[in-house]
Amino acid sequence: MFQILKLCIIIQILSIIQITKKKPLGLTFQSIPYIYYMEPNILAFWEKYELLSSSENYSAEKIKGKICRYCEKNENETTFKQITHLIPELIGENDIHTFDECDSCNNLFSGYESNFAVFIRPYLILGGIKGKTKIPAFHSRTEKGNEETRTIFKHREGNRKELHLQDLDDYTIDEETKTFSITFRKSSFTPLKVYKALLKIGLSLLPVKYDEFNRHSFEWITNRKEDLNFIPSAFITTLKGKKFTKAYAELYRAKKLVIENEMFPEHILILHFANQVFQIFLPFSDELKKEDAPNRNLSLLLFPSYAYDEIIGEQINGFRSYDLGVSTPITENHKISFSYEQADIQIPHK
Ligand SMILES: [Zn+2]
Repeated sequence: MFQILKLCIIIQILSIIQITKKKPLGLTFQSIPYIYYMEPNILAFWEKYELLSSSENYSAEKIKGKICRYCEKNENETTFKQITHLIPELIGENDIHTFDECDSCNNLFSGYESNFAVFIRPYLILGGIKGKTKIPAFHSRTEKGNEETRTIFKHREGNRKELHLQDLDDYTIDEETKTFSITFRKSSFTPLKVYKALLKIGLSLLPVKYDEFNRHSFEWITNRKEDLNFIPSAFITTLKGKKFTKAYAELYRAKKLVIENEMFPEHILILHFANQVFQIFLPFSDELKKEDAPNRNLSLLLFPSYAYDEIIGEQINGFRSYDLGVSTPITENHKISFSYEQADIQIPHK
């Protein structure tokens, strides 16, 4: 039987929160020990890192001749017919074009972006983010191919959300506190491809003069190189009261790669869309590798994205660290809670 639940929800995500501050992450990264931390002082991030480039003022750098910046093929070996974007349009329609990406690389990167789309789709619907053509709908994966277990979540006019539930375990509602949670049973996706979709944005923002120190990243993202050392975690912040009306990306560079016995990854990408802030560290540049020494630790500084929300008194600032190093497809159930203003519920109570 098909149950229909119609909801009118004000999007204020209440949960999905973890930890902060100098806490070991428990990830293994070769033999280099590292810690990640957020300084109590919000501005400390800018003491160590400076903005290198941003999608806000991006202008494509001209490369001599027609050579793909990513796979290094020339126009006799590949084609350059497609319009390519700096920021995937799935997180917002945009006209920020790149002119250094060949069609076969564009197709390869589109594959990465489809995985990214599965990973973030719940946020796009909750945020009412219009992609190239429309706001996507979420279709949960089915259990054992049974269509009657599929949940559908759609955006409607005026920030209304419509939820078609068949599996009643996919939601909880508390009418007293007006909180609601949905378990998004996502289709399968490959976390490593999500990382590569983010890395692509970072490499596009990298000024061309740094390419020679990051050649291995270009080779890896185009599958010309199999293995690469990198920090596989993405650090994800869900903002409670702020929504970005358009997606934008920033690339930061460490002002100094080494301070005393601490090393800092050279490049950090920060991506803003919907009510999300994503941070990844780009793979180590050759410049950083030169600085590696047994007595040096790698420090991962986190961008103080929580500051986009109004800070009232003492509060716990939350990040999710997500391991994007997995190279095989996975499925996951992602529970998101939020408060709502008004709900028109046509469903039997559990
Ligand atoms: Zn190419």
